[in-house]
Amino acid sequence: MKIRDLKVATVDAPGLGRIGIVRVDTDEGIYGYGEAHCPREHVLQLKPYIVGCDPTEVEKVMLRIRYRGGFKPWGSSVSAVEMALWDLAAKLESRPLWRYIGGVNRNILSGVSVGVQPSMAELIRVVRGYLEQGYRRVKIKIRPGYDVEPVRALREGFGPDLPLQVDANAAYQLSDAEVFRALDRYSLLMIEQPLGWRDLVDHATLAKMIRTPVCLDESITDVDDARKAYQLDAAFVINVKPARVGGLGETLRIHDFWYGVAKRPIWIGGMLETGVGRGHLVAAATLPGVRYPNDISASSRYYESDIVEPPWELNKDGTITAPERPGIGVEVLVDRVKKAVKRSLERSLS
Ligand code: MG
Repeated sequence: MKIRDLKVATVDAPGLGRIGIVRVDTDEGIYGYGEAHCPREHVLQLKPYIVGCDPTEVEKVMLRIRYRGGFKPWGSSVSAVEMALWDLAAKLESRPLWRYIGGVNRNILSGVSVGVQPSMAELIRVVRGYLEQGYRRVKIKIRPGYDVEPVRALREGFGPDLPLQVDANAAYQLSDAEVFRALDRYSLLMIEQPLGWRDLVDHATLAKMIRTPVCLDESITDVDDARKAYQLDAAFVINVKPARVGGLGETLRIHDFWYGVAKRPIWIGGMLETGVGRGHLVAAATLPGVRYPNDISASSRYYESDIVEPPWELNKDGTITAPERPGIGVEVLVDRVKKAVKRSLERSLS
């Protein structure tokens, strides 16, 4: 069996830009899906490097793209094709992708990520709405001038038991350590990416100054970054975003090092995916080293109608169940691809 074709259908998601739904076909009519957040042409450039290859050898095909094509492994086009190949490889064995990659926890914990709000009252209202929907953990974005106050407001509003964490998106420097000392009093699950993405040494210093676990996100682009972070003791936990690290292969390598060797936990973050990308996130979130709730929400969080069937839904207990169907377990609704409507992006950016 050989890979016969690579296609991209473009979805217009207002506020998100254009998303490419990538499909890799075999000569026997089986196909896999991935999702690209880059121009269609960037994905199609990869076609000559995959057509004719054996679809069961994902890593071999990716090495061809990387070394013969000279493409950087962390680009969106490459990770989209990579994930389509994983979906395809799992389907060729008629297995769900999550089992195919070694996942064990079928019901994954789903958290919600809440952007900066115009007032504390509005923050409380928004968070209450998500908790009523069943989300099990709340993450808020912080930035200088909007950090300790919203955390205090949420602790006062929802008490000490609300699983709460903050994400600074690299907005601070080590000289802002007072902010993190102040946040240290609120029993947060973690502080995500407090400092610049290249500041591993400063993260290590900060991690020693506070009790709250430090989580790295933007700093980790591959397993080598994870090894450096471990050597420096710069973080306790990693938010792995498959699309950011080049796909599921690198996600597995980071998982196997950080959890298997370093004995530390990870969780899975998203980048505002459609139901296709979400399928890959759900599969990754079933891995044994995923020990915190994930930034993976239901389709309804972002889309009035997702472009996949069945849509991703939140169970009453705040989990999402990985499907037993082959591959990512959802089918793309071609007629909806053109009509996909994005809702309220401004509420949150991952
Ligand atoms: Mg983040």
